[in-house]
Amino acid sequence: MRIAVVGVQGDVEEHVLSLKKAFERAGVKGEAVATRKKGIVSESDAAIIPGGESTTISKLIFREGISEEILQLAEDGKPVMGTCAGLILLSKHGDEQVERTETKLLGLMDTWVRRNAFGRQRESFQTLLHVKGIGEYEAVFIRAPVITKVGNKVEVLAKYGDFIVAARQENSLALAFHPELTDDTRVHEYFIRMALE
Ligand code: GLN
Repeated sequence: MRIAVVGVQGDVEEHVLSLKKAFERAGVKGEAVATRKKGIVSESDAAIIPGGESTTISKLIFREGISEEILQLAEDGKPVMGTCAGLILLSKHGDEQVERTETKLLGLMDTWVRRNAFGRQRESFQTLLHVKGIGEYEAVFIRAPVITKVGNKVEVLAKYGDFIVAARQENSLALAFHPELTDDTRVHEYFIRMALE
C-alpha cells in the first residue's frame, strides 16, 4: 500500500514518519511518500493533506493539478485525510476568511469550517478528546480551524465543546488537530484501515 502526503510546508515529514510507525504497528506493508508534484497521488491508495497554511496549500495543489488527482482518488473510493489546514481544504463551505483570501477548496465534505477558530489567545493547546472509533485521545491543536455545521452525510467523530473537531464522510476524514505531532499513531492506523477496506 502507498499513501501520499501532499504538501509544501509544515508537517509533511511528521506525517510520513507517523505513517511509517503506523504501518509497522498495524502490521501492514506500506510506504509513505511526500509529494508536491502531480503523478504521485494518482499512483497511491490514499492521500493526506497536512496542516500548514490553507491559503498556500490550496494554491499549490490547484496550480500543480494535485487537486484533480485528490478528487479522482476520492471518486475511486480511496481515502483522503485532511488535518488542520487539510480539514479546511476538504470542506465545501468556507468562512469569511476563506472567501476573503479566495482560497479554493476541494469540497469533498459537506462541512462548514471556521479558520483560526480559537483566536490569538489560544493559538495552541492540548486536550483530551473522545474520538469515535479510536477512544480517548490527547489532541494537539495549533491555530486550529473547527467545523461549525455538517450536512447529513457527515458523521461527527469528536467534539470539543460545541465545536466539531473530527468528522468523516464516506472515505474522507477531517481532523482539526495534529495526529502527526505525538507518538500516538492510532489516527494513522485508523486511516490505514480505511485504505484496506
Ligand atoms: N491556521 C491555519 C489555516 O487556517 C491552519 C493551521 C494549521 O494547519 N496548523 O490555514
